[in-house]
Amino acid sequence: KKAAIIIGAGIGGIAAALRLAAKGYDVSVLEKNSEAGGKMAQFTQKGYRFDMGPSLFTLPHLVEELFALFGKRMEDYLGVVELPMTCNYFFPDGKIIKAWSNRDKFLDEVQNSGVSRQVVEEYLEKQSFLYTHTADFFLFNSIHKPSTFVGDAGKKSLKALHKLDVFTSMHQRNKRTFGESYLVRLFDRYATYNGSDPYRAPATLNMIAHLEHNTGAWFPKNGMYGILNALKKLAEEEGVRFLFNTEVIGLVTSGREVTGVRTGDCIYPASLVVNNTDITLFYRDILPNNNKLRKLMKRERSSSALIFYWGMKVKSELDVHNILFSNDYEAEFIGLFKTKLFADDLTVYIFISNKVVPDDAPNGCENWFVMVNAPENVGQDWQEEATRARELIISKINTVLNMDVEKVIEFEQILTPEDIEERTGSVHGSLYGHSSNSPLAAFLRHPNFSRRYKNLYFTGGSVHPGGGIPLCLASAKIVDGMID
Ligand code: FAD
Repeated sequence: KKAAIIIGAGIGGIAAALRLAAKGYDVSVLEKNSEAGGKMAQFTQKGYRFDMGPSLFTLPHLVEELFALFGKRMEDYLGVVELPMTCNYFFPDGKIIKAWSNRDKFLDEVQNSGVSRQVVEEYLEKQSFLYTHTADFFLFNSIHKPSTFVGDAGKKSLKALHKLDVFTSMHQRNKRTFGESYLVRLFDRYATYNGSDPYRAPATLNMIAHLEHNTGAWFPKNGMYGILNALKKLAEEEGVRFLFNTEVIGLVTSGREVTGVRTGDCIYPASLVVNNTDITLFYRDILPNNNKLRKLMKRERSSSALIFYWGMKVKSELDVHNILFSNDYEAEFIGLFKTKLFADDLTVYIFISNKVVPDDAPNGCENWFVMVNAPENVGQDWQEEATRARELIISKINTVLNMDVEKVIEFEQILTPEDIEERTGSVHGSLYGHSSNSPLAAFLRHPNFSRRYKNLYFTGGSVHPGGGIPLCLASAKIVDGMID
C-alpha cells in the first residue's frame, strides 16, 4: 500500500484521510495537539459540556458521503436533528424575529414585521438559483484547473454569472431589496459565516443564507463535537492511524516530489502528503517560502472570535442559536477590520447546545456559549479587550433579556483570538483563513494542490473553497478528485 500523510487532524484533514483510505492508501494523520478537531474542539467542566468552536451545521449530506465511501450509514454513528428555528433574533428596539426553518412560517413572521412575503420569497429563490448553479463550480471543483471552466460545472455556472452581483456589497443589495427593514441586518449577518464584512463583501455571498433558509439547519444529537468523533471513529475502523502530540516541522523533498515529512525526532516517508494546517503557517513553518508568505500576509484575514463559556444556573426562554443585535452594525465591522478593536456596542451570539442535548448541563442549568466577532490577533491586550467586551455583553443581555446574568453564572472560561491562534495554529486566530471582502476573494485562495510538488495537496478552511465545516469537507472532496 502507498503511504499517505495528512498534516493536521482538523475536520478537513480527517475528511481527506477517509477519502484516501477509501482509495486504498495507508493513511497516517500527524497532529501537534493531544486530540483531533483543531478549531472544532470541546471541553467538559463542572457538569457542563461545551462545543468550543463551530456551532452551526448545514449540508449534513457532505458528512453522510464520507460514510457512504465505505458502504456505511451516518445514522449508525451520528444522530442529527433538523432545528425548527435557525435563529432567534433580538433587535435593539425590542423587536424579535424568529427565523423558522419552515419557509411559510418564516414568511408569516417577516410579514408581521412589515416586509412583504413576496419580496423575501423572491430573494430566497434567487439565492437558491445562484447556489444550485454555481456551487459545483466554486465549491466542489478546483477553480485553479482549466478543466473546471470547460466542464459541466463551468457550463452550468455560466447561466448564473450575470446574476452573481460581485460588484455590489451584500449590504447594498440587502438594503435595495428590503429597504429600511429588520431583514437587512438579518441577512447582512451571513457575511460573518465566513468572517467577512457585509459592507464590503460581494453580494454573491448572500447565497450563504440559502443554506440555512432553504436547505435547513441541523444539529447533532450529541453536540457538534459528535461530528468529529463519528468521523474519527470511522477513520480508525478503516485503518487510519492518528499520531497525536506530533508536530510536523518540515517536508523532505526530492526534485518535484515530497518523499516524507519531518517531526523533531523522526522522518515519516510518504508517497503523498496532504496539508491541513493554516496555509500561511505552512509556508512560514513547514515549507518556508518568503515569497508566498509575503503575499499571504498582505491579504486581509478573516475575523476571529472572543467567547465566554458560561455554566448558567438558569432555564432560559432562548433557543439553540440566538442573536442580540447591536445598535450600530457598521461600527462593529470598522472595529473588526480597521481599528482592530471592539466597537462600543457589540452583537452578541448565544448558542445553547443543551437545548438539544440534555446531558450538556446539570438539571435546571444551561451551557451558554456567548460569542462576539473579534478582530484578528495583531497583539492587542486581550485581557483588557475581554474585560471591556464582557461588560458590554453583560449589559446587553441584561437589557434585552431582562435578567441579571452575573447572578446565574456559576462557571466561566474564556477563549480569545490569541488562544485560538495558539491552540490551532490559525495565523492571527482567524476563524476562516482570509476574508472574502473583495470580489476576487474566491479566486485568490490557495489551490488544493501544489504547483511545485506533484504529490502535495491542501485541505481545510484556509485554502479553496474556504472556511466553515461544509467548505472544509468540500476541499477534501476536491483533493480526492485530483488523485488517482
Ligand atoms: P483546523 O481546525 O484549522 O485544524 C488544523 C489542525 O492542524 C489543528 O488541529 C492543528 O493543531 C494542526 N496543526 C497545526 N500545525 C501543525 C503542525 N505543524 N503539525 C501537525 N499538526 C498541526 N464553522 C462552521 O461551519 N460553522 C460555525 O458555526 C463555525 N463557528 C466557529 C466558531 C469558532 C469559535 C471557531 C474557532 C471556528 C468556527 N467555524 C465555524 C470554523 C470552523 O471551525 C473551521 O472552518 C474548521 O473547523 C477548520 O477546519 P480545518 O480542516 O481547516 O482544520
